[in-house]
Amino acid sequence: MSKFYCEYCGTSASSVSSLTGNSCHRHPDGPGRGRHKLYEGSEKNQYTCKYCGTKSSTISSLTGNSCYRHPGGSGKGRHAPYEGSEKNQYTCKYCGTNSSTISSLTGNSCPRHPGGNGKGRHVPSL
Ligand SMILES: [Zn+2]
Ligand SMILES: [Zn+2]
Ligand SMILES: [Zn+2]
Repeated sequence: MSKFYCEYCGTSASSVSSLTGNSCHRHPDGPGRGRHKLYEGSEKNQYTCKYCGTKSSTISSLTGNSCYRHPGGSGKGRHAPYEGSEKNQYTCKYCGTNSSTISSLTGNSCPRHPGGNGKGRHVPSL
């Protein structure tokens, strides 16, 4: 039977309703300020942060640390698992820039970022 994981903390549950019925201790608004959110990607051997490319073997360990490329500011939030599949090339969903790793893609600012030219980093499409 497949498991459902929280994108914020890696808690697993046997159904979506039981997962999202409980509050999340790593919710972005603060511990217990919101509910678990369904991670919509597939189960992987290694999870990659969509903001910085940091890898970890579980969502729980990945989201346990703060992200130095978090959109809210360096260290202002936690790593978040990339929900797409592993690729040879990652493409920015805003401008189409390609890069071979999420880490190198998100290392540069995006000229077509919704917040303004260069106001944020490239974001890998799924
Ligand atoms: Zn959670
Ligand atoms: Zn990160
Ligand atoms: Zn871009």
